[in-house]
Amino acid sequence: MPSRAEFAEVGDDVYVLRYPVLDVNATLILGDGEAILVDTLATEAQAGELAVAVRAVTPAALTIVNTHHHFDHTFGNAVLADLGSLSSPPRPIWAHASVAALLRDRAEAVRREAYEEALRLAPSIAEELLTVPIMAPNETVRHESTLDLGGRAVILYHFGRGHTDGDLVVHVPDAEVVVAGDLVEEGAAPSFDDAYPLEWPETVAALLRLTTPSTAIVPGHGAAVGQNFVRGQHEELAALDWVIRDGHADGAPAEHVAAKAPFGPDVALVAVRRGYAELSGRL
Ligand SMILES: [Zn+2]
Repeated sequence: MPSRAEFAEVGDDVYVLRYPVLDVNATLILGDGEAILVDTLATEAQAGELAVAVRAVTPAALTIVNTHHHFDHTFGNAVLADLGSLSSPPRPIWAHASVAALLRDRAEAVRREAYEEALRLAPSIAEELLTVPIMAPNETVRHESTLDLGGRAVILYHFGRGHTDGDLVVHVPDAEVVVAGDLVEEGAAPSFDDAYPLEWPETVAALLRLTTPSTAIVPGHGAAVGQNFVRGQHEELAALDWVIRDGHADGAPAEHVAAKAPFGPDVALVAVRRGYAELSGRL
């Protein structure tokens, strides 16, 4: 029987595992004797499955990257950082500086938010989130860092705020792959709970400048997409930005603005409230 969690190649020596719970992606980038794993799933059990899947592809030592702080991308850090290095210190975990600070200094607050969100979106894993060890990143990016993966350059960018205040984009130039985290979503609308909807379009525009028509873009959730898909999502985000600014200038109620915004009224209402808060200096 095949494992339910397996990597599939999306570019030269770049593999994506699309995990069924929350349809979330983990990306494995191979270099000479080394490997980068981008995002680590949500629980110890999921991270254990991910570790088995990683070892089915490569025995290499891992460097971990977190695209942002959300639990479904980071709570597996402790398991993956220990993988195959029982006698050595945990492996490097890279993230934006704000993500490292949040998971180090406010881990229990992040855990509570994760639990509440899991109760809504994936109740079967909510209990496990109460006890999973949270491991904060130990290497930080502010704007850009280039990792040398055994002769292969992998570049981590923070292009500005968007889905959160600490989103990283991972670029593998020689494979024409961009890992977007939740800045791009396939199969579901973007999520705005911790988002900056007035800045998100610019951040995605910067991401798009890394791409060509043959680039594979790995979203945080769902299937890998191409440049045209991301252009379309950028247009929707830009339209949302516009209606939020327009509505705020007119003093329109958030509900009225959300009703005519992209992504549907429920998703857009969260975005409009975040945008209004920012425009009023409350964010
Ligand atoms: Zn997220």
